[in-house]
Amino acid sequence: MTTVDADIRSPRHRDPLDLRHLVESAGRFLHDAPAPEIIRWAAATFGDRLCLTSSMSDALLIHLVSRVKPGIDVLFIDTGYHFPETLGTRDAVRHVHDINLIDVTPTRTVAEQDHDLGPRLFGRNPDLCCHLRKVEPLNQALRPYLAWISGIRHDETTTRTTVKPVEWDPKRQMVKINPIARWTQDDADTYMTDHAILLNPLHHDGYPSIGCAPCTRRVAPGHDPRSGRWAGTAKTECGLHQ
Ligand code: SF4
Repeated sequence: MTTVDADIRSPRHRDPLDLRHLVESAGRFLHDAPAPEIIRWAAATFGDRLCLTSSMSDALLIHLVSRVKPGIDVLFIDTGYHFPETLGTRDAVRHVHDINLIDVTPTRTVAEQDHDLGPRLFGRNPDLCCHLRKVEPLNQALRPYLAWISGIRHDETTTRTTVKPVEWDPKRQMVKINPIARWTQDDADTYMTDHAILLNPLHHDGYPSIGCAPCTRRVAPGHDPRSGRWAGTAKTECGLHQ
């Protein structure tokens, strides 16, 4: 994992109770606020102890946030299983936007995981695979921060319909900010067109939702955009947002 500045690796100086009170008050006054206002509040409140995460499906959130807070840390979880197009999008984003892109990697390489736990863990136990290659690495990478920004939206899955713009992340004991939670797909498409946002080319090849290559299939036009994720199983989330 690429290292971040040592001065933000110091222990958290803010009490989780203070942060929870902050979430309650901010949650009230930012409930209906537009995304840039939510991001401005987060940048002013958390400074360099704020980061955002990106799956490199597109650069919408990176564009929105880096206009408010240039140089912000952007965490990309490099599971070792990404499509080449996703890694290419990451490389393009790194050059186009004023951000500090950090590749977050699991403890084991794919080869080491295959050796220790057997090949194709994603097919036998995808929850464990996601935990080892996504959830645990992100948990470690988020430790220096007080708050993280995610691009999840209500209309993506039934499990995300109650997401708030500013909320408490109880597992990580930090603040989670979802500035585009209330955006629709049309809102996102309009923003991306208006600002010529970088888009993972897989979107033009039948992949409206993009995850790891072994667990992502093409989706027929008109079908649920996320139906290609872990298709044929009951799994709908990787665990990052639960
Ligand atoms: Fe493993 Fe699939 Fe989860 Fe990627 S999406 S971490 S390959 S189970």
